[in-house]
Amino acid sequence: MEGTILVVNCGSSSLKVALFDPQLKKLTSGLAERLGKGDAFASLKGSSGPIELASKANHEDAFRALVSALQDQGLLDEAPVAIGHRVVHGGETFREAALINNDVLSAIRDCAGLAPLHNPVNLLGINATKALFPDTPQVAVFDTAFHQTLPEAAYLYALPLEFYWDWGVRRYGFHGTSHQFMAHEAARLLEKTPATTSIISAHLGNGCSITAIRDGRSVDTSMGLTPLEGLVMGTRSGDVDPGLVDFLATKGMSAEEVNRVLNNESGLLGLSGQTNDMRSLTELADHGHEPSQTAIDVFCFRLARYIGAMMASLKHLDALVFTGGIGENSSRVRKKVVKHLGLFGFSIDNELNNHHGGISKAHIEGADSRFRILVIPTNEELVIAREALAAARPGTAG
Ligand code: AMP
Repeated sequence: MEGTILVVNCGSSSLKVALFDPQLKKLTSGLAERLGKGDAFASLKGSSGPIELASKANHEDAFRALVSALQDQGLLDEAPVAIGHRVVHGGETFREAALINNDVLSAIRDCAGLAPLHNPVNLLGINATKALFPDTPQVAVFDTAFHQTLPEAAYLYALPLEFYWDWGVRRYGFHGTSHQFMAHEAARLLEKTPATTSIISAHLGNGCSITAIRDGRSVDTSMGLTPLEGLVMGTRSGDVDPGLVDFLATKGMSAEEVNRVLNNESGLLGLSGQTNDMRSLTELADHGHEPSQTAIDVFCFRLARYIGAMMASLKHLDALVFTGGIGENSSRVRKKVVKHLGLFGFSIDNELNNHHGGISKAHIEGADSRFRILVIPTNEELVIAREALAAARPGTAG
């Protein structure tokens, strides 16, 4: 097919691709996992079986295999017109998507100190696609860019200012493409323009973050220097007392161990002792497993508390928006969170909330609610495809 746009999202041992037609309709998507390990594998939606990968296949091997499967399906008989890459950290350099050239590559490399686990693998993805499609414009779309509009009062930590000047220690925020999509979709649903729409966007997946968006611009967000800060997440703790690090050192834990526990063994998993998966937690809680109920309660309370905090960044609020796997699907979480917010005048319509499943977008606020409450499925790949097309061919994207 002519005029396709390819979206590439590289993780440390994974590579995801999505192919869009020129009207930005998704054609298919594919995934390679366990890259660099003995049992690497890949699959493409619509293919009859798994795609064969050599043992210890790397990102470039996986990309070649997925492209060849796309070609076999007749979807990529010509090079794509644009390739959009999800890049985690753009530091203060990138306020929007960037057409990749040598300067952009070296700036992404410079930001790697802020995201040592992510930016280097994002660069691997860029190199892999360049090797195969040297003439296709490649565009970097940053998780942090949407939050570059944060005012100083929201992005500075109360630390010695040299930390910011010398090392870039500040709040950056993540999930920017998802929050940006919420800003646009909420405006569309409310029949307003993004530039006049103010929302609180709660992205609740395995990673969770919340953003205050004033007149279309991010003005506060819960993730910080790293994605660890803020809400309770699947395996991340979110906010804890910084004094914890020293306390755990007295118990014999190294900084590295504390970091591992806070990122990989905390959150819903740590509290429940069972799982990071909200669906499984809900089932466990229904069967009387008390720690699972506690995990859900802590998750919902922290979220409600953050929604209250985000109100301080807004002059008015058009809607509270839920998205991500939990935000889109868990009526129980939405109900519990909104119940905490009665003082602000939020109320939920139980019928609309419970019957949301299957409807792609919906208002779920009660008739007496002071604010609208929306459930909007996120679509980060679409944002990346749209931004890639716009940056690669200015003037053509809708
Ligand atoms: P994501 O990272 O956006 O894919 O979201 C993953 C999270 O969404 C996991 O905690 C899932 O358990 C949760 N999730 C997905 N579907 C449901 C559902 N029907 N009910 C509750 N949680 C769900």
